[in-house]
Amino acid sequence: MTGITHAYDTFQPTHYDIFIDIDRGTKQISGKSVIDGDAQQKDIFIQQKNMEISSVQADGKDVPFEVDNKKEAINITLPKTGTTTLAVTYKAPLTDSMMGIYPSYYEVDGVKKEIIGTQFETTFARQAFPSVDEPEAKAKFDLAIKFDEKPGETILANMPEVKNENGVHYFDTTVRMSTYLIAFAFGDLQSKITTTKSGVKVGVFATKAHKANELDFALDIAKRAIEFYEDFYQTPYPLPHSWQLALPDFSAGAMENWGLVTYREAYLTLDPDNTSLDTKQLVATVITHELAHQWFGDLVTMKWWDDLWLNESFANMMEYVSVDAIEPDWHVWEMFQTSDVPAALQRDATDGVQSVHVDVEDPAEIDALFDSAIVYAKGARMLVMMRALVGDDALRKGLKNYFAAHQYHNAQGNDLWSAVGEAAGMDIGGIMNTWLQQPGYPVVSASVVDGKLTLSQQQFFIGDGVDKGRQWKIPLNSNYEVAPTIMSDKTIELGDYAKLREEAGKPFRINVGNNSHFIVKYDDELLKDILDHHDELDAISQLQILQDLRLLAEGKQISYASIVPLLPKFADSHSNVVNAALYRVANDLKKFVTPDSDEEKQLQVLFDKLSAKEVARLGWAPKNGESNDDQLTRPYVLNAALYAKNTDAIASAHKLFEENSSNLAALSADIRPYVLRNEVKNFGSEELFDNLLSEYRKSSDASYKQDLNIALTATPDAKLISKLIGKFEDAETIKPQDLRSWYRGVLANDAGQQAAWDWIRNDWQWLDDTVGGDMEFTTYITVTAMVFHTPARLAEFKAFFEPKLNTPGMTREIQMDIKVVETRVKLIEAEKDAVNAAVAEIVK
Ligand SMILES: [Zn+2]
Repeated sequence: MTGITHAYDTFQPTHYDIFIDIDRGTKQISGKSVIDGDAQQKDIFIQQKNMEISSVQADGKDVPFEVDNKKEAINITLPKTGTTTLAVTYKAPLTDSMMGIYPSYYEVDGVKKEIIGTQFETTFARQAFPSVDEPEAKAKFDLAIKFDEKPGETILANMPEVKNENGVHYFDTTVRMSTYLIAFAFGDLQSKITTTKSGVKVGVFATKAHKANELDFALDIAKRAIEFYEDFYQTPYPLPHSWQLALPDFSAGAMENWGLVTYREAYLTLDPDNTSLDTKQLVATVITHELAHQWFGDLVTMKWWDDLWLNESFANMMEYVSVDAIEPDWHVWEMFQTSDVPAALQRDATDGVQSVHVDVEDPAEIDALFDSAIVYAKGARMLVMMRALVGDDALRKGLKNYFAAHQYHNAQGNDLWSAVGEAAGMDIGGIMNTWLQQPGYPVVSASVVDGKLTLSQQQFFIGDGVDKGRQWKIPLNSNYEVAPTIMSDKTIELGDYAKLREEAGKPFRINVGNNSHFIVKYDDELLKDILDHHDELDAISQLQILQDLRLLAEGKQISYASIVPLLPKFADSHSNVVNAALYRVANDLKKFVTPDSDEEKQLQVLFDKLSAKEVARLGWAPKNGESNDDQLTRPYVLNAALYAKNTDAIASAHKLFEENSSNLAALSADIRPYVLRNEVKNFGSEELFDNLLSEYRKSSDASYKQDLNIALTATPDAKLISKLIGKFEDAETIKPQDLRSWYRGVLANDAGQQAAWDWIRNDWQWLDDTVGGDMEFTTYITVTAMVFHTPARLAEFKAFFEPKLNTPGMTREIQMDIKVVETRVKLIEAEKDAVNAAVAEIVK
């Protein structure tokens, strides 16, 4: 079978009868998978992982088989090709890996409990039942489940239950679907259920550790999102129900299993009376993301994992399109501009980054595809760019045709481009493939050369990069009519600048709206013109100016020090997006100073100066009926004032803490992390630390828990830091799914960095054993690289990670992250003095 890597090429299933018996007590799974299908050859293979196979039958007769664990397969020899019914009997362990079928642990009133859930994407269905576990192998499934059931327990699956016989739960036959979207779960659950206008039952399920009203927000968003998608896609929701289930242990953010979406608790349940607006927006976008997949991904699925972007980039765009439609006052596209856009621009500027479309075969490499800044953020940006080009009417028409042509089957990127391109009457594929297949993005230089306004494109790098002469078809979105819609050439000339400027009556700009994936380097004359009129720019454009300049400085195309004097110009803005960009630059200045040095004191004075006016205007108490901008800006400026060691700010936060010390969870969620962190940093004691840690263990409110994490990891006390690190491997305090943010918090704390770094190096094997099978594992490397910025740490980072370069799935991340730290160290060495002098100039 040389050359054949896809099981689907050997056996094509049409229907599964699956029986699974799960015993939580003995942690054993046993089952039987009966698969009807079409054998393409006599020597076939199907997939399994960590299974003990007791028999394989074909059409009722035992046939020879061999388990190949390296290939995660069962090689089977059939007597004939053609229509065949396979029956595989097996046993497998129930493991705590958060993959396959796995338990989640939680406590209610001090009683320890567990629920069983599943996570099959990417290649973990094969850990639950033998199957052709590839997205193209769509089939119908009849699922029957038995478990050590206790009274009052609920069981959920993709389809409704049709009967319960002798303790076996039988579910209705599914529609044609991929294995990675199968899901089920059982345990002691509570729920809230409603029905959409079109009759789809929508439900939210969670453990009873949550208050009932913590399910309300998600139920409302999910119902309205399904109604929105049915209208936008002009295609009905294909199943009888849409269940949303919060699992206490969950590796990713959420998973779009068809009809039974699973979520991290933090992304589904929330306290409707005390949760910050940005957390609500985040939860809403996670729900709408998963529900976008019910069509895009589930109804029509990528043919193979190389087109993962087709699922994820699209859902990532639609999460914003739908939230913007159902909650227009939130202006949720602003969140896209402050989160996805900078993430994509940052990561995509490092040479060695993957392109959105990547060829892939090995299961370990498939997991490494889930690069959130690329496959999600950049991919979404690519589609936003396409949407801006074709408009919503053509997009919707194209999608309707795409769903009609491919529903219950698979598709590739070009199928989408041709459906949308046909609806729009444009060659969309020709434009989009330059963005999809090539890594990186261009910087477009706009300059006046010999009086002529000239544009030229070149790949933008942060750090060393090999220029391979890549070119993109760039939607320019200029505010001057003379600029073409698409710039395909390396250089174009737009005409006499003085004349164009006079006719237009405004500064020349491109990428207006910041919807195209490129940055702009204006020459001094053009930039001065824009900055002289910066008051006339909308918030997104102001953010864009600061963001592009910051990136150009990181790419050493301009001096970092030259941005510093611009900060006070934007500091009085009431817009949260401008403040996001402003404080992103300001916070980045921290890497140029040594803790507690004179330079840092000077930087603190700058922070005080930048934030003073807005702190005075907004204060610590969120006001009834205040604008979304004010709610979202307050955290930036309070955080800045506290970094500045502003005595009033420290005292105000302390006072709030004392007034609420009997019920800290009731502190307004908008300011709670800053109040708690201020207390730990400036008024901390072991008693306070222990109290907060015990609050963390007891609470089921994920946003409060996150705030406690932020506070506790900020302790300056070495003894408490080592106490905290001692809890890293205690799953009853810190769940493995949450550990990364604790590690990152301590690592980013100057007083804790050494201890956190020692921990991860010493206990790497434990970490690998605990979360190594998890697709987020490599992000431990990424978060470390995000913090490090000294030559000594760079050397240690290389010494530790370089020997791991050949680990499957880790190679690219290690290479990228070494480059990221190296580049930052060089930038600091080169620019430190000038940056600190520029700060001194403003504060003197
Ligand atoms: Zn997704």
